[in-house]
Amino acid sequence: MYIDHEEILHKISSRPFRIVSEIADELQLEVYVIGGYVRDIFLNRPSKDIDIVVVGSGITLAKAVANRLGKKSHLSVFKNFGTAQVKSGDLEIEFVGARKESYQRDSRKPIVEDGTLEDDQNRRDFTINALALSLNTERYGELVDPFDGLDDLENLIIRTPLDPDITFSDDPLRMMRAIRFATQLGFFIDPDTFDAIIRNKERIAIISKERIIDELNKIIRSPKPSIGFELLNRSGLLELIFPELSALKGVETKEGIGHKDNFAHTLMVLDRLSKHTDNLWLRWSALLHDIAKPATKRWDNRLGWTFHNHNFIGERMVPKIFSRMKLPLNDKMKYVQKMVGLHMRPIALADDEVTDSAIRRLLFDAGNDIEDLMLLCEADITSKNPEKVRRFLNNFRLVRKKLVEIEEKDRVRNFQPPISGEEIMKIFGLPPSQQVGTLKEAIKNAILDGEIPNEYEAARQFMFEKAKKMGLQAIQQDK
Ligand code: ATP
Ligand code: MG
Repeated sequence: MYIDHEEILHKISSRPFRIVSEIADELQLEVYVIGGYVRDIFLNRPSKDIDIVVVGSGITLAKAVANRLGKKSHLSVFKNFGTAQVKSGDLEIEFVGARKESYQRDSRKPIVEDGTLEDDQNRRDFTINALALSLNTERYGELVDPFDGLDDLENLIIRTPLDPDITFSDDPLRMMRAIRFATQLGFFIDPDTFDAIIRNKERIAIISKERIIDELNKIIRSPKPSIGFELLNRSGLLELIFPELSALKGVETKEGIGHKDNFAHTLMVLDRLSKHTDNLWLRWSALLHDIAKPATKRWDNRLGWTFHNHNFIGERMVPKIFSRMKLPLNDKMKYVQKMVGLHMRPIALADDEVTDSAIRRLLFDAGNDIEDLMLLCEADITSKNPEKVRRFLNNFRLVRKKLVEIEEKDRVRNFQPPISGEEIMKIFGLPPSQQVGTLKEAIKNAILDGEIPNEYEAARQFMFEKAKKMGLQAIQQDK
């Protein structure tokens, strides 16, 4: 690989690096910047967390550095881990003493001893993550690359420095990291390394759900997330960490009619959507939009394969999946549920005639998430039939145009019924009851169906008419 030494020196020329260097020389300590930060220098990626490894005490060096950086820096010491962190501006610098690690079978927590730089590089997960640049003055910027990580960077290869079976068995999270880096960076996993993932996949059981989801979310945030899901699938990890997604695989054929492979389709939707949004939860919605297809699949002699209500059943599956995977059980989950539940609506709309009433209802149900829903639906059109695709996309354009028109006219997007339940109770002298609900619902429907405008007076008039039919007497006529 061509190395621009000037460029490297420039990237490690800021004041914090100079100070680390000065103090290391003074204390006669061997010091390197190592790992992801060095990798990202060569890849020209922005990177904020800097890892410094010192042959000696990381904490001693960190304290001295924080001292010299002065008031604007902040020091945290983690005595149990033998590490310390210095924050300075938007840089986060981790200091750790070079260490040698050995593992026991049932834990990913190693037994740690002091070691040399070489020991420290041996414990790194991938060759491209084991690169170190010296920070001592007489060797400033010198690259230490014992595993030819630079070649692997050039050839876009993810490879473990040592025997991959040992590397993955020691810390099975590294299997997820391999696939995550391949996806994030667009790299290829070396065949020997990949085979070891297949052999060690069951070891993922000792890794916490939180760490797994962290890596999975990094895969989902990548430019082309399908790379990661294909690798998870081929390695056998997918079935272990995400069985619902794995269940989407495959095609069944009956009387010569097959349905599409919903795994391949889902990945295509996810990739297509990812070109238009960085929103992690919208990407999750794509991943889960057809998750209930296996559960709802039926063969119908007249219709062929059907997946009735897969959107609603899918919406109901989301909490269980989120809970098991330790995803947040909050408004983000609610949003994903809503997207999964509604993902058929714009398609159904575009299929039929696009009536004002249907548009109003869609706006009402989607609220401010309408644009996200439209992005998801457009990504969902993966048909190979160009005529069909053209027709759908055309109809979507029409739906979008109508959405704007109706929203301007009727403002139903964050629609609140113009008459509240409380007001209804007061006017008719009712306790909280089904009758109140019926009246409220009737007003809402009348507005969404365009029978009456979204205005107070019209709604009030309508309410009295409806109440009369229900045999209700107003006890209070004026406002
Ligand atoms: P990113 O910051 O994008 O997640 P990174 O490579 O910097 O990528 P970190 O988790 O910040 O990842 O770790 C910094 C460095 O520590 C890595 O480059 C690698 O050398 C080492 N490392 C991290 N996790 C492991 C692990 N599980 N096994 C071995 N080495 C690891
Ligand atoms: Mg990092």
